[in-house]
Amino acid sequence: MAVPFRRTSKTAKRKRRTHFKLSVPGMVECSNCGEMKLSHRVCKACGTYKGKEVVGK
Ligand SMILES: [Zn+2]
Repeated sequence: MAVPFRRTSKTAKRKRRTHFKLSVPGMVECSNCGEMKLSHRVCKACGTYKGKEVVGK
């Protein structure tokens, strides 16, 4: 098995991790309850979409 020639420096590690996404893209605030939700999806917290369509409850 290959072994790294030298340890990765803190700087190199941090630079590599700048490309890690901080959160899932396409998150927007629900217009009904203000929770974060995926855009173009029914809100998981309150079950509404575009202010009306109620799912479940
Ligand atoms: Zn909501």
